[in-house]
Amino acid sequence: MEDSTAKGLKESRKKRERIAKVKGTIVSIIGIWLMISIVICAVLMWRVSRLEEKMDYLLDNFTVSGQMDAESKQTLPNTDESMYFNLEDTTEVSLMEEMGYGIVPVMNQKENIAQENDTHKVYLTFDDGPSSNTAQILDILKKYDLKATFFVIGREGEEYEELYKRIVEEGHTLAMHSYTHKYKVLYESLESFVDDFSRIQNYLYKVTGKECLYYRFPGGSSNHVSNTDMTEFISYLNEQGITYFDWNVSSGDATSQAYTPEELVQNVTSDIVKYKTSIVLMHDAETKTSTVQALEPMILALQSMGVEILPIDESTTVVQHIAATSVEQ
Ligand code: ZN
Repeated sequence: MEDSTAKGLKESRKKRERIAKVKGTIVSIIGIWLMISIVICAVLMWRVSRLEEKMDYLLDNFTVSGQMDAESKQTLPNTDESMYFNLEDTTEVSLMEEMGYGIVPVMNQKENIAQENDTHKVYLTFDDGPSSNTAQILDILKKYDLKATFFVIGREGEEYEELYKRIVEEGHTLAMHSYTHKYKVLYESLESFVDDFSRIQNYLYKVTGKECLYYRFPGGSSNHVSNTDMTEFISYLNEQGITYFDWNVSSGDATSQAYTPEELVQNVTSDIVKYKTSIVLMHDAETKTSTVQALEPMILALQSMGVEILPIDESTTVVQHIAATSVEQ
């Protein structure tokens, strides 16, 4: 009797031990599974945030005009029509365009096609500054007694304030290129566009005492990044009496392909001959050292071609990817 009770106790203890063991195993498996899930989630979240940052960076900095140039040159004959639709000169185009969403034609360019013996007016424009490169660009322009146009963004701090002032004092055209240059914020709604616009306009007025009359949309008026219809913003600028400029010649310094300074010069000189008025897109952001290196040889090459190099003013032929006049008030 005692034996069987002891046996029973032993067995039930063994059973409890087995159950405890199974429970322990299940708890450990759940624990490990939870840990793995948490680690995977953390890794995925980190990767998503990295990708978002990368996407923002790409949208802000890179374009694909080089690849498009090659393609459009192959597939389109060099007729008036192909120039009219200006497939070659879309820098700062968005990733959407890279994905094949097409390029918006330049609608007001036909009368700008140069005929033989026409004089060429060239407007050098620098976007995304001021930065440490801006001072060097200003020095080079000063050396050749030339004026250009700077489409600046909002940068706080004494060193930047000095650069905005220098641009104005040395006779260049100070123009706006948004305060934040953040596509997501800027183009979120008309309200956020207006906020950003007022911010850059007031800031530049406060720093330089100069009222800016010209604007360049980050990504151009034909960008496909904006969630809001660009015509809303265009109509707002029209109301404010602000003229926006896109470009019809691209140096290529915004593209993901790193052009050498020689290639940047070549890109510009080969394109400006097509137009009476060339609005040349360049960048003076922190990373654009090739642009600084290209500037002096570019000036020399342009001067040897006998072109006029001018700053944008009220007499400049307006180059717009979406014509302001096509937008109803
Ligand atoms: Zn820009």
